[in-house]
Amino acid sequence: MPSDKIHTKINCIMLLIILIIMFMVGLKDVQLVITFVLTYLFATYFLSPDLDIDSTPYKRWGVFRVLWYPYKTLIKHGGISHHPIAGPISILLNLFIILLPLLVFAKVILGIQSISTEIVGVIVIGCLLPIEIHIITDKIL
Ligand SMILES: [Zn+2]
Repeated sequence: MPSDKIHTKINCIMLLIILIIMFMVGLKDVQLVITFVLTYLFATYFLSPDLDIDSTPYKRWGVFRVLWYPYKTLIKHGGISHHPIAGPISILLNLFIILLPLLVFAKVILGIQSISTEIVGVIVIGCLLPIEIHIITDKIL
């Protein structure tokens, strides 16, 4: 399996290719593109399927790595986290559980009522693609 550095490089190269394709097909909504790029980079650096071991992405969480400890201990390395469907679902589900208090805070305290479906879709795709690219890369290299 490739190192974290190789995974990061491949994900960044794929991001450039995806951006070129997005501009070629005429996607020019700056808010959506920026949201996609930010979530894609966040997923590249923090949402690796290798969160099931003491990997660099796991360590990047710093003191918050404790939030991924149950995931790391419950998931066998190379198992469900590296499955093309169950992997991203398990990672995003754990992330959702982590972010749930912040989402409740944003809704109740800050009064944020809703986020557009388009933005949510772009965030999900931005998180999914790097995870899928990682899984495919692990299978190829
Ligand atoms: Zn991996």
